[in-house]
Amino acid sequence: MKDKSVTNLPTDAVVSNFIRSIIDEDNRTGKWNQRVETRFPPEPNGYLHIGHAKSICLNFGIAHDYNGVCHLRFDDTNPEKEAQEYVDAICENVAWLGFDWGEHLHYSSDYFDQLYAFAEYLITQGKAYVESLTADEIREQRGTLTSPGQNSPYRDRLPDESLDLFRCMKAGEFPDGKYVLRAKIDMASPNMNMRDPVIYRIRHIHHQRTGDQWCIYPMYDYTHCISDALEKITHSLCTLEFEDHRPLYDWVLDQLEGKVPCHPQQIEFARLNLTYTVMSKRKLIELVESDLVDDWDDPRLSTLAGVRRRGYTPKSIRQFIERIGVSKADSWIDVSVLEDCLREDLNESAPRRVAILRPLKLIIDNYPEDLEEDCFAPNHPKKPEWGKRVVPLSKTLYIERDDFMEEPTKGYFRLSPGAEVRLRYGYIVKCVAVDKNAVGEIEAIHCTYDAETKSGTEGATKRKVKGNIHWLSVKHAQPAEVRLYDRLFSDPYPDSGDKDYKTSLNPDSKEIITAYLEQSLCDAEPEQAFQFERNGYFIADRIDSKPGKPVFNRAVTLRDSWGKVDAGV
Ligand code: ATP
Ligand code: MG
Repeated sequence: MKDKSVTNLPTDAVVSNFIRSIIDEDNRTGKWNQRVETRFPPEPNGYLHIGHAKSICLNFGIAHDYNGVCHLRFDDTNPEKEAQEYVDAICENVAWLGFDWGEHLHYSSDYFDQLYAFAEYLITQGKAYVESLTADEIREQRGTLTSPGQNSPYRDRLPDESLDLFRCMKAGEFPDGKYVLRAKIDMASPNMNMRDPVIYRIRHIHHQRTGDQWCIYPMYDYTHCISDALEKITHSLCTLEFEDHRPLYDWVLDQLEGKVPCHPQQIEFARLNLTYTVMSKRKLIELVESDLVDDWDDPRLSTLAGVRRRGYTPKSIRQFIERIGVSKADSWIDVSVLEDCLREDLNESAPRRVAILRPLKLIIDNYPEDLEEDCFAPNHPKKPEWGKRVVPLSKTLYIERDDFMEEPTKGYFRLSPGAEVRLRYGYIVKCVAVDKNAVGEIEAIHCTYDAETKSGTEGATKRKVKGNIHWLSVKHAQPAEVRLYDRLFSDPYPDSGDKDYKTSLNPDSKEIITAYLEQSLCDAEPEQAFQFERNGYFIADRIDSKPGKPVFNRAVTLRDSWGKVDAGV
């Protein structure tokens, strides 16, 4: 049972370093001759998600910090489910996160010959045998957590006979499922993984790299430890569910002592669980294939392709992984921790711009019909060196619908009949009338402006008003598609217990609107990020946005959209 405590870590959280402590100790004793070699070993059977980012940052981060090396190794022993599309996407994701495997790109299938030779060796040593029982019979004889398994009648098959059969398996003489190769360990072991696990099976299936060369494929547990050893990995970091597999990892390598270059140490850490999302590959595939999301890179998904398209930066993800730390205790991280990391990054790096998401017309009655004035808006409130840009003002503006209330509630300091606000970087205006249509809906509001109060002039500071709203001149504003994304699930634990995660999909997780943008946003390059003042952080969609025809995605809202409006005077 997973611990449901949600961690909301402060920004200065101490990063757990139990893995680093092990490495420090190894370096002190000289166990590996100061060598640190890690690997990230995805199976290319789906897209990577934010959980994988933890493993990537950990493996590549440790290698980097200890002047070591990290390999990217595709664990491609299961050709039914694997595809080159996934290999390509995984490489792209790892590089996007900022990591470089250099020459260390490997595939478990690179080792098929060696894995096979070691299997023959285990047979000759009486450590493996060819099994004739069916998969169901093997399962029946496996025992339970409380009762031991039974030895197969084929367990004592002579090595020569097993070797013959194994060679015939390899030569393609048998159909799928006819025989398997099992390690001969202990059918009474309290650890089920040690009850003579299957290490090879027959699969007449094309492999994306080795083609039709093989019709027998090694199992994960057998392959993984040997691949690690052949690559001279020192510290093999994996998630906690592999803890029970460690005795098998060690058993295989113990049998091959002297035949493989080293015996890496497997170290387990807790996987990342994030609220309001699902991360199993199976569920992600289901969401994509049943069209519940648009594709693998749907900005609402926890896939790395999705969070990238949403507007997450590699830096924000690395910061997130550092902040949550590494431990052996399973816990849940609140998705707001991830969102905060993005806000912090974009708060620093994203230029400010104005966009009106839900427009309402504001007419300045006493403003000259044809006058246009330049107002100057800073590109970043804390970085004067980024300069200012011109935002033109004219008689008819768009403001946000929410910035007007006909009957203001207590504490509402924006526009309402008779009330005054500052048009950011412009003048103070006062609401004098409201236009409504036949059914009573507000169509426009009328204001008068105080010509003495322009921002940047002496008069600006004479009078203070509480409200401060953004606006765009109607004739200068550019309409554009904006996609407002929200959390994909409305339940923090969509797939815990027996729940069907599909029942808690948030129906409002995607809304497409036509917003109005200031002119300079039209030239945005794909993946350029901005803060739309008071509205959140937005990114030009990496696929659909083109300079001249921008499409923006909302990456994340501002922490406090309405309350904390900085002066803008
Ligand atoms: P599956 O859903 O098929 O079991 P997986 O998520 O385990 O897939 P792999 O391709 O086997 O995917 O994962 C590659 C590596 O990423 C493994 O070392 C795995 O432990 C690690 N990993 C996977 N999910 C998480 C997670 N949520 N947090 C941290 N590491 C993870
Ligand atoms: Mg896995």
